[in-house]
Amino acid sequence: ANFDVIRLINTCIESAKISLHKDVRFSVMSTSPSVFIDADEAHLKNVVTNLIDNAIKYSVGSIDIAISIVVGPKDIEIRIKDNGLGIAPVYHKDIFDRFFRVPTGNLYAVKGFGLGLAYVKQVVDQHNGFIEVESALERGTTFIITLPKSTKI
Ligand code: ATP
Ligand code: MG
Repeated sequence: ANFDVIRLINTCIESAKISLHKDVRFSVMSTSPSVFIDADEAHLKNVVTNLIDNAIKYSVGSIDIAISIVVGPKDIEIRIKDNGLGIAPVYHKDIFDRFFRVPTGNLYAVKGFGLGLAYVKQVVDQHNGFIEVESALERGTTFIITLPKSTKI
């Protein structure tokens, strides 16, 4: 179905805020006030929710989550950036695998199944899009999703 990605992102942020027990600041930046995409709305909502959930889970202190949307001629790029723990480059190739969790002691205090990003990648793949990660330890993480404006799935 056709829907506005900016609206969807704002809905995800409002839902995330309801159960927040951490100090988080969100910002949304977009090249245009509404960005329509033909995609699976329910799954895309879960994708954004999963990435926001990770950004909050793997961060400490005062957390900044910056979401930006850039509309190209054919594609829409969504960036979700946090200033959290980061992921060492050696693990970047593994994080989209089912059940993979970064094997660092303190992260195991954070509950999870290692399934969120595998689901996210599957949804993005089904839309003929792609996902990339930019991250460095203790500096934060950015997930970049590129989706065609229209995919028939
Ligand atoms: P689930 O999402 O199934 O509840 P999970 O969060 O552990 O569990 P994924 O979302 O697939 O699983 O993430 C895989 C691993 O990648 C995480 O365990 C964590 O080590 C790392 N990770 C994911 N997102 C971030 C992030 N924003 N910052 C730092 N590490 C991250
Ligand atoms: Mg997760």
